[in-house]
Amino acid sequence: MRLILLGPPGAGKGTQAQRIVERHGIPQLSTGDMLRAAIAAGTDIGKKAKAVMDAGKLVSDDIVIGIVAERIEQPDCSKGFILDGFPRTLVQADATEAMLKAKGLELSAVIEIQVDDEVLTDRIAGRYTCAQCGAGYHDTNLKPKVEGVCDRCGSTHFKRRPDDNRDTVVARLQTYYKDTSPLIGYYYAKGLLHGVDGMASIDEVTASIEAILAKV
Ligand code: ADP
Ligand code: ADP
Ligand code: ZN
Repeated sequence: MRLILLGPPGAGKGTQAQRIVERHGIPQLSTGDMLRAAIAAGTDIGKKAKAVMDAGKLVSDDIVIGIVAERIEQPDCSKGFILDGFPRTLVQADATEAMLKAKGLELSAVIEIQVDDEVLTDRIAGRYTCAQCGAGYHDTNLKPKVEGVCDRCGSTHFKRRPDDNRDTVVARLQTYYKDTSPLIGYYYAKGLLHGVDGMASIDEVTASIEAILAKV
């Protein structure tokens, strides 16, 4: 199964991707996570990406396409993968198709998580993750079962993203509508698009996605 999760920042792509990983055993390929890892490691790509990400703009197509092309060659992607936050431009979408075609593969589905703009600021401002295993949480919507302790790995260290602040959200949303939302029409035309109501609870969104995956 080769999936794309599409939706604005804070829609729930990462949250749902983590659940698909657990249920279906295919890896989550988050270009945001890969770029943050490159920044933490101090690589050339990380140095180029940092200021762009902090400003809520998009890292260049060449860089992210290169990262994904390398990642999907890894053995754990042989049974499929979930693209989370990629593609984000039409150029990236065409590159995705070309990469898969070269391997004789096709996409299984594109799932668009539809959310009203009003909730995105709160979802992003309240977002944090486990510093050890990356499990995602939210200040009010998704707290660990024991306060301050990660459900998945027991760590007591958590982190927040520097771009997850109310000022950057506006820029990131503008970027989404300008550069990424055209992908909705692009994938609709290819018969791959499936919309889910991302305003529902996290469990309900998971159930909607599972219903789609059962059919592809
Ligand atoms: P994205 O990867 O699309 O940017 P995330 O999955 O990181 O979004 O979700 C953003 C924040 O909103 C997280 O803190 C997450 O716990 C929370 N969240 C995700 N889905 C929902 C939902 N359906 N209802 C309420 N909060 C949600
Ligand atoms: P969110 O979960 O809020 O949608 P991500 O973690 O996916 O955010 O991305 C964080 C930032 O990393 C983006 O604002 C952008 O600067 C950069 N980025 C991630 N994926 C891509 C991509 N496919 N193309 C260009 N830039 C990207
Ligand atoms: Zn953890």
